[in-house]
Amino acid sequence: MNTPSRYQKTMDKWQPLTAALDDRRRQALYRQRKISDSASSPEMVISGQPCLCFCSNDYLGLANHPAVIKTFKKASDHYGVGSGAAHLINGHSRAHHALEEELAEFTGRERALLFSTGYMANLGVINTLCRAGDHLYQDRLNHASLLDAGQLSGARQQRYAHLNNENLSAKCTKNTPKMVVTDAVFSMDGDIAPLPALSKIAQQHGAWLMVDDAHGLGVLGRNGAGTLAHFGLDAEQVPILMGTLGKGFGTFGAFVAGDERLIETLIQQARSYIYTTAMPAAIAEATRCSLAILQTESWRREKLQQLISHFKSGAAQLGLPLLPSDTPIQPLLIGDSAKANTISQQLLARGILVTAIRPPTVPAGSARLRITLSANHTEQQVEQLLMTLGALL
Ligand SMILES: *Cc1c(COP(=O)(O)O)cnc(C)c1O
Repeated sequence: MNTPSRYQKTMDKWQPLTAALDDRRRQALYRQRKISDSASSPEMVISGQPCLCFCSNDYLGLANHPAVIKTFKKASDHYGVGSGAAHLINGHSRAHHALEEELAEFTGRERALLFSTGYMANLGVINTLCRAGDHLYQDRLNHASLLDAGQLSGARQQRYAHLNNENLSAKCTKNTPKMVVTDAVFSMDGDIAPLPALSKIAQQHGAWLMVDDAHGLGVLGRNGAGTLAHFGLDAEQVPILMGTLGKGFGTFGAFVAGDERLIETLIQQARSYIYTTAMPAAIAEATRCSLAILQTESWRREKLQQLISHFKSGAAQLGLPLLPSDTPIQPLLIGDSAKANTISQQLLARGILVTAIRPPTVPAGSARLRITLSANHTEQQVEQLLMTLGALL
């Protein structure tokens, strides 16, 4: 009968959160950050402990490249740190503009448009082009930012079975899609989407095909031009290309590349483009430097391929449960989340950092150790990883 005190009311308000957090812990799904005291590189100091890292997306080793750092420093002397405003106010510098022109040329498209992050680029494109009543089809294992973007758009979004062209075709025959969307290289699996077939299906049904090449740019294709270059697909076959700059490029941000009319429409309408501060100009300038290195230093891609082959053959000899992948993303399937956590902790105790990826990032029952390789790793470091995995698994 007593009216609850103010204190009790506050307690009640937080109780559901406490319960949900406890629940997560019980299911071995609780996520914790590790604190790094060093630059992105194979050898890092994490939570005060030196370790060998196999979990970064800095595939080419450009995040800590001396020339990229030098360019960044020089540009920040000129432009300062913050861009001060959105692109449509006065945050769009000559460095941003030049980078957009270079990215358009790099991807063989009319234009490119910078976004502050890949998550925002995906929100921007899908929400500008799709709305309630449209049908939108996505691969079941697409990145969360693509799936979230589709949800937010209000379109009728369906996920087709992973890499399954027949399943997509059947859906397209039933309801003509406005857009088909796929990761080029799947971020948690490392396998590659069948882009030539997807392009045919999309064209047959008059739909846009949008490809997110976050993990292919810099890594695949001639001059690192990505998964589309790997398959020899042009802007006609894949009209909408999205790429991120925080992975193979080693910097930060993202872009969308395509037709003049697509880019102008995004500038006018994409809310995640319009209502946010432009990335710092010095980041854009540093990215121009990393784009030049990425195109010319093919040895980084060749070395990465050698390390991938070395790791794959070693893992096969040890009978490790590797998922099928030819890219720097080499996941070891564990299944149970608690077991994946335990193995990750055991690796860290032996000086190797590989994070356990658990649901909802991956489907239930498919927790894994997402191992990634970088051109900056050495053969000896890969050997050390194999020996340690062999002893543990
Ligand atoms: C990382 C990633 C993104 C998001 O990019 P950010 O720049 O980190 O926001 C989008 N799509 C895919 C496939 C990714 O792996």
